[in-house]
Amino acid sequence: MSRFFSEKYSSLVPYTPGEQPKDTQYIKLNTNESPYKPSPLAIDLAQRAACNLELYSDPTCSELVKTAAERFNVSEDEIIFTNGSDEILNFAFMAFCDNDTPAVFADITYGFYKVFAQINNVPSKVIPLNNDFTICVDDYKNANGTVFIANPNAPTGIALSLEKIEEIVVSNPDNIVVIDEAYVDFGAESAVKLTKKYPNLLVTQTFSKSRSLAGGRLGFGIASKEIITDLNTVRYSTNPYNVNSVTMAAGIGALKNNEYFNTNCKKIIKTREWTENELKNLGFVMTDSLTNFLFAKHPDYSGKEIYLKLKEKGVLVRHFDTDKLTEYNRITIGSDEQMAIFIEKLKEVLEELK
Ligand code: PMP
Repeated sequence: MSRFFSEKYSSLVPYTPGEQPKDTQYIKLNTNESPYKPSPLAIDLAQRAACNLELYSDPTCSELVKTAAERFNVSEDEIIFTNGSDEILNFAFMAFCDNDTPAVFADITYGFYKVFAQINNVPSKVIPLNNDFTICVDDYKNANGTVFIANPNAPTGIALSLEKIEEIVVSNPDNIVVIDEAYVDFGAESAVKLTKKYPNLLVTQTFSKSRSLAGGRLGFGIASKEIITDLNTVRYSTNPYNVNSVTMAAGIGALKNNEYFNTNCKKIIKTREWTENELKNLGFVMTDSLTNFLFAKHPDYSGKEIYLKLKEKGVLVRHFDTDKLTEYNRITIGSDEQMAIFIEKLKEVLEELK
């Protein structure tokens, strides 16, 4: 730390992104990226947009907003685009949390929430999950703060039903409930349609997973016009050009090529089911994941040992070295070929650990 670093950030613990190694060619199952390329239309439109990079991007994201509003059946003033969904989540912390309105979230959830709370200097109310990693819905009723729920949750993959989400939203009429749907396209139910009914609901999604655009950095939020106006106030006060023009074009292509998106989601779900079955046969225990990853532990071997040995063999999964998660590994669902290699290497690891 330099002596110039502001006191207000001196105890900030930043988010740790998953490893992105450049040295070895790993089978990369550690950051929940898609194994599939962006849609051909996304690539084509992005390439064309790259020829006009001398111009600023459109701060209103008008064509992207129009395309998305049609796709999600909302009005254009009910949607906002951001630089990944991390950015809209940060905007929500900036816009809707303060000393009197703490951020309310689970102890085991997306690790960035506590960092956003810290950097925005807002208090957090952290609610423990049940022992089986499920959310206790009653804990979020009348929460007296801005509620952040990843649905499905990460790194557990467990989803809440729409009825449960609605119960939470209804019980917090004077607070915003943010539903982070980064993984919703792999089998869970989206709360987007509830935004028409509830003026206190903000749903966020990303193009990083199901639309294969993690490197493009594109996320969005859907909510009442008033909430979107607030988020735009924050956006225009920080970075009005937050979505670059190449990414914007790629996003339009990805939305227009809906069949490609649907096919890839189905393929990933099918591969997840295959992998889940293989892992069960090897004695692993898993949560019920509706995402593009599995969260698995073996009763006989430590999560860390398995993670390290897989890494030695060229397969990278995500291990969280914290109390409640240390027995587990989070395994991104790759292509069928990648998962077959993963299982083969895992069998070798288990044999060696015997
Ligand atoms: N929410 C959750 C639950 C996530 O796991 C992630 C990905 N790390 C994000 C949001 C942010 O994704 P992105 O910024 O790539 O849209």
